[in-house]
Order: sequence, then C-alpha cells, then structure tokens
Amino acid sequence: MKIFCVGRNYADHAKELGNAVPENPVIFMKPPSALLMKDRDFYYPEFSKNIQYECELVIKICKNGKHIAPKFASTYYEEITVGIDFTARDVQNELKQKGLPWELAKAFDNSAVLGDFIPYENKAIEFSMQKNGETVQIGHSENMIYSFDDIIVFISQYFTLNKGDLIYTGTPAGVGPIAPGERYSGFIGTNKLFEVGIK
Ligand code: ZN
Repeated sequence: MKIFCVGRNYADHAKELGNAVPENPVIFMKPPSALLMKDRDFYYPEFSKNIQYECELVIKICKNGKHIAPKFASTYYEEITVGIDFTARDVQNELKQKGLPWELAKAFDNSAVLGDFIPYENKAIEFSMQKNGETVQIGHSENMIYSFDDIIVFISQYFTLNKGDLIYTGTPAGVGPIAPGERYSGFIGTNKLFEVGIK
C-alpha cells in the first residue's frame, strides 16, 4: 500500500506558508508505517518542537491503473474520508532551505491519521477539524487547485496506482501547532470520521 500526499493544493494555504502556487501538483509519499492505528493516541516525537496538523480529504484507490486518462479518473475512487498529515514544520523548513527531500518532516511513524471511509458522492464536500471541540480548519473540495481526477491523472503518469492506495489531497489554510493534551476530530459535513489525542 502506498500513501501519496499533495502539497500546496489550496491557494490560501500556499499563501500562509509563503509558497508560490505550483505549476504541477507537489507530490510526496509516506510509507505504510506512517499510518496511525485507529483509536490510538499520537505521541509527540522528540526530533521536533513544531509538529503541525494539516487536515485533508483522503481518497482510497479502488482498482489498479497506470497512465489513467482524465475521462476515466473518477472511476478509480469510490470512498473518501478526512485525515491529518502531521508535519514537523521546523524539520521541513530546514530541509527546504537545504534543498533536501521532505521525508524526515513528513513520513515519520504515525504521521498519517486516517478517518473511517464513507461512500464518495460526486458533489462538493465541506470538511473540517476541531481542536478540543473548537473548529480550527474548514475546507471545501471545490477550492482545490488540482481536483481528485487531476491528481490521479498526474500521479499515474509516474506510479502505478494499486487498489488500497491512499491519496491525501492537501490542506486548506488554518494549519497550526499541536500540543500534548489536545484532542482533534475530523468531519465531512457533520459526520465525525476520526478522533485523536496528543500525548
Ligand atoms: Zn499536507
């Protein structure tokens, strides 16, 4: 199973981190060991002093494909959820400055929170995340720079997509630091799909 992530897919988030809106999707990967098991807490790692949350829509690939044509892209996912792409922002900034790959900042153990999947209905989605019961991020799928289909077409030019692969489709504005003792919950509409505590 592969986990793909899209960076800078919402103009408002690219702006808040001072990044240019990209010409092509920014793609990076997390290994399967990055998945946080359901109902487990996230333990703040020692290598960072600035772990940040990024709440994102996540689609699950439902069949194998390569070089997927735009008109067929929508047949490659049937389920959707929300998750968190935990990011060691201090580590990422250092790596970026040196022009180095992002894995140490993005792909570490338990950095991928995954909610329960629900059927994808082909319509605009509002998703959100609460920290200790207060909303900290709200996103709308129609504000994505690259749609689910665009992302699938792009990724499949380089990688075979396999059934069960996950795609984290980027975060809207409102990312921020986490701290031990906090609890985060993710929603599509009013449907709560994950809850995670920080230790
Ligand atoms: Zn992200």
